[in-house]
Amino acid sequence: MSRFWTDKIASLDPYVPGEQPQDKKYIKLNTNESPYAPSSKALAAMAAEVSERLRLYPDPNGSALKNALAKSYQLEANQVFIGNGSDEVLALAFMGYFAGGKPLAFADVTYSFYKVYAGLYGIEPKLISLNDNFDIVPADYQNLDVSGVVVTNPNAPTGKALSLADIEFILKANSDVVVLVDEAYVDFGAQSASTLINQYPNLLVVQTLSKSRALAGIRVGYALGHPELIEGLERLKNSFNSYPVDRIALAGATAAVEDEAYLKEICDKTIATREQSVKDLEALGFNVLPSATNFVFVTHPEKDAEKIYLALKDQGILVRYFGNKPRIGNYLRITIGTNEEMAALTAALKTL
Ligand SMILES: *Cc1c(COP(=O)(O)O)cnc(C)c1O
Repeated sequence: MSRFWTDKIASLDPYVPGEQPQDKKYIKLNTNESPYAPSSKALAAMAAEVSERLRLYPDPNGSALKNALAKSYQLEANQVFIGNGSDEVLALAFMGYFAGGKPLAFADVTYSFYKVYAGLYGIEPKLISLNDNFDIVPADYQNLDVSGVVVTNPNAPTGKALSLADIEFILKANSDVVVLVDEAYVDFGAQSASTLINQYPNLLVVQTLSKSRALAGIRVGYALGHPELIEGLERLKNSFNSYPVDRIALAGATAAVEDEAYLKEICDKTIATREQSVKDLEALGFNVLPSATNFVFVTHPEKDAEKIYLALKDQGILVRYFGNKPRIGNYLRITIGTNEEMAALTAALKTL
């Protein structure tokens, strides 16, 4: 607390990211990073960009990356917005589309950054409870009287996915506000709503290169939507920072998006490891929610999640524990690592 802080700064309740401890080498299963290297084509493109060209500003429009994304999702470049991680894209979307006075609807158990943005922009959250099985119930997203709706599909930290028909139901029930579908994990087993963009002018799909494309370190995310929604985001971005994505990141992201074969290869590997891990965890007595993501959300009927978390950390394995959070205090979110890392996890859990 400083006497120079405004009431605004003092009022904030910032997001707390998963631990990134620097004291020793952990098996990191706590922040949903990929255990695999990025596309070698992306690495080569980034290495090539480390050159005298770095004296120049990057393309403020990121056209090469937008074109690659547009091609990949069969859209036009003016239906694509890019930002410094999808967190930045979300921040701009919240500021632009949801700070209109009415509350913003999202699930009670979901990505905890939404509440932080809501606090930043003075948006009142309208929390819609997941059912007892931790499912989003589309029927609960009708007659809301809100500024907008955020749906995470698949949801985090539960890992559960909605069908495209469910997403369409929510879009139709909220046709006069923006429905933002955060698809950070969609490549691991859910259907993207990007195919609905030409039908629903209120749909904004947000994705990231941090998870499935193994590029959390370069901070690139994007939104797909109607050209007018995208133009709104561009207006905001150009009123804040014209160059949020640097030259190296643009080069790497473009090559990564073009390398669809590698995306599929590492997603398939993660899915196969996930299926094995589900069996191994169930054999140890854990309840494992069905996952369409690169993590599993688990609880043990007889064991305390905090104790497991601490004991694993002691053994050099980090998982995500949600401590004080309502409903999920006895759950752990475990990122799917390599087969070897998951075998080490299972072996450590056996000793507990
Ligand atoms: C990881 C994550 C993000 C943020 O991704 P970045 O592109 O790394 O900022 C956004 N939404 C959800 C649900 C996530 O899990």
